[in-house]
Amino acid sequence: MITGLLEGNKRFVTDVFQKEKEYFADLAKVQRPTVLWIGCSDSRVPVNTITQTRAGEIFVHRNVANIVATNDWNLSAVLEFSINHLRIPDIVVCGHYGCGGIVAMDDVSREDRYIPIWLNNAYKAKERVDEKLVSLQMQIDPEQRLRLIVEENVRLQLEHLQEYPFVRDAMKESKLSIHGWVYDMTSGGIKVMQKNRVACRE
Ligand SMILES: [Zn+2]
Repeated sequence: MITGLLEGNKRFVTDVFQKEKEYFADLAKVQRPTVLWIGCSDSRVPVNTITQTRAGEIFVHRNVANIVATNDWNLSAVLEFSINHLRIPDIVVCGHYGCGGIVAMDDVSREDRYIPIWLNNAYKAKERVDEKLVSLQMQIDPEQRLRLIVEENVRLQLEHLQEYPFVRDAMKESKLSIHGWVYDMTSGGIKVMQKNRVACRE
């Protein structure tokens, strides 16, 4: 219920904010986040909770299926602000197993208008995994296939990230590192992705 959020805020003010007044007072003057998080909008992947971080530590951008699209002015502005103004040294693209956006790429019968257009930015991840499975003549569990696509999508979005010249430049100057992670909702753990290509064997 929506009133629950406001009640929660009252508890936040008394239980957290008042007790850490100085921390929040300093934070109100300036933010110095050290990580830009590009994650999925999924409600089960709450950034600060799963990383045990506080307000002020992570600059956040979330969308369906943690996509980096170079024609997305929203993300582009977030990136520009993060790198050129906040001087953030690390960007994390974090996917998650069980991502509804990734599942939706298999569903061609959908009548949605905007979701398929958006997911075009992740479609190559699905193609890469399926092509690899065909070339290896591998039959795998459908769930496992989806997990591989989730992982490949993170790699793909890291590639998209490097299509921005100012991202590439910051990386070349060693001012910026980019990281691919996948969150597992069933264990609470984060898997750090290796930079290699589609690996169909764990
Ligand atoms: Zn998701």
